[in-house]
Amino acid sequence: MIAVGERDGAPWAAVEHCLFHPQGGGQPADRGWLEDMEVVPVRDRESGLVVAVAPEGGHLLSLAVGQAVRARIDVQARMTHAALHTAGHLVEAVGRLQGWEMLSNNHFPGQARIEFQAPQPDARLADPEGREEATTALRIAAAAAIADDLPVFARYESEGRRVVHLGALHSAPCGGTHVRSLGVLAEVVLPTLKVKKGRIRVSYSATHRSH
Ligand SMILES: [Zn+2]
Repeated sequence: MIAVGERDGAPWAAVEHCLFHPQGGGQPADRGWLEDMEVVPVRDRESGLVVAVAPEGGHLLSLAVGQAVRARIDVQARMTHAALHTAGHLVEAVGRLQGWEMLSNNHFPGQARIEFQAPQPDARLADPEGREEATTALRIAAAAAIADDLPVFARYESEGRRVVHLGALHSAPCGGTHVRSLGVLAEVVLPTLKVKKGRIRVSYSATHRSH
């Protein structure tokens, strides 16, 4: 335990060698525990530390600085989030191959989607057959990258910015958690894309190939 504190009447605790990943970059927070207390990791704006707080309605037992505590995460949930989030990078990558620019992303289970815009109006997207055809192109490109088992790795640029790469296919600044290579992604599903007010919405789901 390296620090404890209280904000808005709610106690928080920070551990050394923090393994908790807070919500961020469109990705949900880890499910974690300190000893047997369930905690939610959040980034404290003041200190910049990732701190553990009690879930709503829960409480944190009193912990002292210097006290040794056992920190755990739900590995299954972490792997699910990492797989879904990495699949989001892949969807972004294959969308960019279509010449689209990314507008927004969301990697939450059940609502994961990337929204793009086409720099020039894309006539294909005006009718259902064209949208199906464009989605097929995305699916084929994604399946090829998964079949190639592209490595997923992070590099730090000189300014300290963390950039995540999918082999040589794609790179994007990101602080999230990822799987090690695209080959572990399973059940990657891209339903037919939708276009709303010029925004091309590609929803997706993905899981982790277990062992
Ligand atoms: Zn990422």
